Amino acid sequence: MEKYNPEKIEKKWQKEWEKKDAFKAIDKDKKPKYYVLVEFPYPSGDGLHVGHARPYIALDILARKKRMEGFNVLFPMGWDAFGLPTENYAIKTGIHPAVATKKNTDNFKRQQKNLGLSFDWNREINTADPSYYKWTQWIFIQLFKNGLAYKDKIAINWCPRCKIGLANEEAINSVCERCGEKVVKKEKEQWMLKITKYADRLIDDLDKVDYPEKIKISQKEWIGKSQGAEIKFNIIVQASDIKYWVNVFTTRPDTLFGCTYLVLAPEHPLIEKFKDKILNYKNVEKYIEKSKSRMEKDRMAQDKEKTGIELKGVKAVNPANNRKIPIFVADYVLMQYGTGAIMAVPVHDQRDFDFAKKYNLAMIEVIKPSEVRPRINYPRSDLGGNYSEAHEGEGVLINSGRFTGMKSKEAKKRMVAWLANKGLAEETINYKLRDWVFSRQRYWGEPIPMIECKKCGWQTVPEKDLPVELPKVKSYKPSEKGESPLAKAEKWINVECPKCKGLAKRETDVMPNWAGSNWYYLAYLMRGISSFQFPISKYKKAFEYWMPVDWYNGGMEHTTLHLLYSRFIFKFLWDIKAVPKSIGPEPYKKRTSHGVILGPGGIKMSKSKGNVINPDKIVKEYGADTLRVYEMFMGPFEQMIPWDVKGVKGIKRFLEKVWKLQYNVGDRLGNGHELEKIAHQTIKKVTEDIESLKFNTAISSLMILLNDLEKEKELCLTQYSSFLILLSPFAPHLTEELWQRAKLEGSCRNQEWIKHNHRLIEENKVNLIIQINGKVRDKVEVEADISEVQAKKIALAQEKVLKWIGKNKIQKIIFVKNKIINFVI
Ligand SMILES: [Zn+2]
Ligand SMILES: [Zn+2]
Repeated sequence: MEKYNPEKIEKKWQKEWEKKDAFKAIDKDKKPKYYVLVEFPYPSGDGLHVGHARPYIALDILARKKRMEGFNVLFPMGWDAFGLPTENYAIKTGIHPAVATKKNTDNFKRQQKNLGLSFDWNREINTADPSYYKWTQWIFIQLFKNGLAYKDKIAINWCPRCKIGLANEEAINSVCERCGEKVVKKEKEQWMLKITKYADRLIDDLDKVDYPEKIKISQKEWIGKSQGAEIKFNIIVQASDIKYWVNVFTTRPDTLFGCTYLVLAPEHPLIEKFKDKILNYKNVEKYIEKSKSRMEKDRMAQDKEKTGIELKGVKAVNPANNRKIPIFVADYVLMQYGTGAIMAVPVHDQRDFDFAKKYNLAMIEVIKPSEVRPRINYPRSDLGGNYSEAHEGEGVLINSGRFTGMKSKEAKKRMVAWLANKGLAEETINYKLRDWVFSRQRYWGEPIPMIECKKCGWQTVPEKDLPVELPKVKSYKPSEKGESPLAKAEKWINVECPKCKGLAKRETDVMPNWAGSNWYYLAYLMRGISSFQFPISKYKKAFEYWMPVDWYNGGMEHTTLHLLYSRFIFKFLWDIKAVPKSIGPEPYKKRTSHGVILGPGGIKMSKSKGNVINPDKIVKEYGADTLRVYEMFMGPFEQMIPWDVKGVKGIKRFLEKVWKLQYNVGDRLGNGHELEKIAHQTIKKVTEDIESLKFNTAISSLMILLNDLEKEKELCLTQYSSFLILLSPFAPHLTEELWQRAKLEGSCRNQEWIKHNHRLIEENKVNLIIQINGKVRDKVEVEADISEVQAKKIALAQEKVLKWIGKNKIQKIIFVKNKIINFVI
């Protein structure tokens, strides 16, 4: 008996697949199409770890099964190659990022091939390739031409040491990711994309797609649409007759009578405007300075203590009751949300409540809960502030003048209408979503294809001049002034104005690392046709055939970044008819997410902890098929799960048992009924479980079937080949090898997926006729082959039978198995 040697057979089959180009997707094939997409990786210098492999293997199993079910499957792979670590590496070593990227992608590709993943490598893409990013630039130009890209001065995270702007995710806890320096806020001119214009559609079209509910909810919350009103508060400045006002956005105009102070964001322009009138301006200025270094996330956090400072010498007037109320500056209010000012209603908003309590401010209760709930801590109606928590729900108005007694819902409308009449309010919709900051002062990104002419303003680079390639630079560091490293490439910057042909300058900012992944699902389709030539119409047929993506799997952490961004960009391309209208406004039909793999013992894998597991090592020691089956067996796909070496060994043993099965196979074709039934139950289970990502239960049912197959003295060929087919998406190398050794026709991966037989799965039932003194009185469905004792018990439980027997004594029972039971009375 030969031993199972994965190293030998896996290399053999990987070579064979490559030679035959076995997983090539055919454009416009007659077969129905199926587009399986898994998020392409950022090729870091560290290579793949076992966590990356989990979604690849899962979707590979799906792709392999779909091919066997007769679909023309597209399952592509590529590289999201622009990114900060590569740039930092370049700064440190002077090695050009493109050189480092090439080395890294080669390594990633080798690792993926080692796992036997069935990617169609003909369509490999790389976002940092000029032929690719000329399209990323082309999309930017279309956005600009359609009024969706503009330049604006905004506050960004700024590292004073590196002199660069950082995205929020690069400045966690207000610390620079590159150097650890404390980050500050700095105003800078940036290119912005108007994603906010798509806010409603990004919410509404979620009804058209099959995403997990938690993804839909988190995108909706991120967009944060809320219906409300803008209310005008007049401002009174002490010892002057200045007439001024501030607008406040609220979703709860029904609580207006309970507003006892206003809060402005530290960036609110009113503060600067009245700086001479504010009596304690020095201290206010200090507070504002301090808040600049705090990250938005920290400012918003519920559990952090709220801080603020009153603007002495100015007051606001509550338009509902004309009460003069104090104005505060506090950094829990953000300038970018709403109007940068809020009306504080301490009894009915927890944040306002905490703040009012700390600064001993007035509280007025204006909403009584409509349903009576037993609440010990329910706030009392007085002005002293003796409450222990806010009541945030709706209810019936109290202490609200003419609106007292009205329900919240009605009061919201009436209150706004009443104030609108006096020019003091209007209904509005507000969003948390902001326009997307699309500029980075970096090197390793797509140059923004814009030219600034003193005479003509901003001009787009003509299509014939695309791509605008990254120039060679001596240093990858940003300039002293915080400009992109491109600012030092003088020859490159100075360019002719496309309009007046005068002297003009190129934009030196580059795009953020999300730019290339916005449209990469389309790039794979274009790659199948040409090396990315213009015009876009060339690819219409391919888009029509393949889009939308049928199944897209990726990380939960991308829900409000890549997933949202790419939906926005696709909708835009759809609007300008760059992609055909017939494919609909959403790029992905279905989205799923995988759970993270933790290190042994449940600790997050990280380089610093030294607990990262490299798939190369597992493949070398146990084989790729073992790694594949283990990663799918370790637990439910969506769940976080720790790595366990014992589990890996267990799977290796399972595959060794499969290997040995070849020595039990006879040449009989028929089979015993019992085995057939469990085989068909397994077919049903595996088929359904793959579709619902329950790989772990699919594998355990294959293990159960294997146990039964092992018991057969001489296994029939039909049973054996069916088993190999079911196992093949999980362990493709082993099953191809066994298929060949059994001298079965063709190769295992090309077999038709088997369908289960309904009749064989149903439990065997018969109709038992119940007679009394030879006359048919009832009929009941029972398990086949039940005994006389069981039959008697069932028959005598039937109401009809009992009625016929009545008080008579049973003299005799005649029982014919699976047919009749006759009571003689
Ligand atoms: Zn820094
Ligand atoms: Zn010009």
